[in-house]
Amino acid sequence: NQLFKIDGLKASVEGKEILKGINLEMNGGEIHAIMGPNGTGKSTLASAIMGHPKYEVTEGAAYLEGENVFDMEVDERARAGLFLAMQYPSEITGVTNADFLRSAINARRGEGNEISLIKFIRQMEGSMGKLEMDPQFMHRYLNEGFSGGEKKRNEILQMAMLDPKVCILDEIDSGLDIDALKIVANGVNEMRNDERSFLIITHYQRLLNYIKPDFVHVMMQGRIVKSGGPELAQRLEEEGYDWIKEELGIEH
Ligand code: ADP
Ligand code: MG
Ligand code: MG
Repeated sequence: NQLFKIDGLKASVEGKEILKGINLEMNGGEIHAIMGPNGTGKSTLASAIMGHPKYEVTEGAAYLEGENVFDMEVDERARAGLFLAMQYPSEITGVTNADFLRSAINARRGEGNEISLIKFIRQMEGSMGKLEMDPQFMHRYLNEGFSGGEKKRNEILQMAMLDPKVCILDEIDSGLDIDALKIVANGVNEMRNDERSFLIITHYQRLLNYIKPDFVHVMMQGRIVKSGGPELAQRLEEEGYDWIKEELGIEH
């Protein structure tokens, strides 16, 4: 059952083409990893799909259960079940974590189907417990003064509570020590099911020791240049990216 499909996606930032035709298909239950050198367009891919205004989609489509997300308003994409854990989550002063999450959940559930306050608090406490987050984070302003690792954990908290269909995690491992990495990976693994798929963007193979991907894709210069299984990530860890560049005849 195909859940998500990226079809010939091209996108530009400030008139410069960054994504040069991305194709990717994900079925329910699958975990796909995207690896690649810095500056290759991984975050651009995530932002373009979510509808960040800086990124202009110039060609192609992305289908969530057959619906082109580029025909949807940005908030509709989240409602339809797309979720992005950002590489650099933004701080929002004046909005508490709990307020933010509750309105995000209610937007996803739709009018007339709002979550009760009691149920929300119970869920939030449960999810925070699993992620070993201090309860005070419920009432802190969103990401304000959070450490890098706390922001990442908070992104996973949002994901767990929003119950999305397609989860895109952009360098969720950066800034996490090994214990936090295990907790975050555990949170992801608990969410695995046949109706959900994950796109895990990472620089390092390490994360993939804890979240076992079904497919690994290598992105370079705005294209997916190689796909394989988990063994591909292992080889990248051992040998870096040069052998792929050589295979492709890319200058380095
Ligand atoms: P990655 O996530 O693979 O490290 P990015 O998608 O962040 O790569 O960046 C790809 C390229 O697009 C880089 O050359 C980067 O400088 C450029 N870029 C990305 N976002 C912006 C932006 N908001 N403004 C200007 N240039 C950008
Ligand atoms: Mg980067
Ligand atoms: Mg990035």
